[in-house]
Amino acid sequence: MKIYISADIEGIGTIVRQEQSSTDGREYRWARKIMTAEVNAAIRGAFDGGATEVVVSDSHNVGLNLIPEELDPRAFLIMGSPRPLSMMEGIQSGFDAVFLVGYHAKAGTADSDLIHIFNRRIAEVRVNGIGIGEIGISAGLAGYFGAPVALVTGDDHAVAEAAALLPGIEAVEVKKAIGAYAARCPHPEKSRALIYAGAKRALTRRGAWPLFKMGPPVELVMRFTTSSAVDRVMRMPGNERLDGVSVRFAARDFLEAFKAFNTMADLIELVAYI
Ligand SMILES: [Zn+2]
Repeated sequence: MKIYISADIEGIGTIVRQEQSSTDGREYRWARKIMTAEVNAAIRGAFDGGATEVVVSDSHNVGLNLIPEELDPRAFLIMGSPRPLSMMEGIQSGFDAVFLVGYHAKAGTADSDLIHIFNRRIAEVRVNGIGIGEIGISAGLAGYFGAPVALVTGDDHAVAEAAALLPGIEAVEVKKAIGAYAARCPHPEKSRALIYAGAKRALTRRGAWPLFKMGPPVELVMRFTTSSAVDRVMRMPGNERLDGVSVRFAARDFLEAFKAFNTMADLIELVAYI
């Protein structure tokens, strides 16, 4: 049984502010260790639950967060960037199940830690009318390549978002958010124990793993925080401006929609913040 783990940092237990999640933050070195330890808990749970191969994607920032020599030596690590499928690079080769570890709720969620969708200039992403964040984007790519999501870990809102989008999923809450930059956290060892148990249990519930299939075709609507973002993304063939801050892109399938989304996410970082 092949398991793919995509690991982000904002939904890791005891990580609540950018001093921890930003690569130049004063707590970032420590955050790397905490993130690696939670991913290790998921890897151990996967192998004890019957996995024969585990591939981990380091999916935060430029993919240089997990500490390779501290990672469970049985796992392979996908690191660095850019890469074609970003947070889900490697899923193309086919997996039995996917774990999303350390994931966060979508932009705009109330009282949820470190919310965003790829960068802080994307306010909303809608796919065939359904608002999704990074959980939905990664689940959609997994679904496109035939892999169901078995486990999501994150704060209480990330877990609720995942359960609504992917009914039947194993969800592990590692903190209760108090606001965008605060949370009530159990000790890291408790979070790791919960993730280990959740990962192992998830693999015993094979029939319950939801395959998140969107389209084809797929209509992608993106709303940005600034109109200058739309000025920039209108360079892309096929984009239609809906209003001051929104565009629509008609995609053949989810993979094409993701490529358009990912291109726009990069383009909008190149314009002035107006
Ligand atoms: Zn993220």
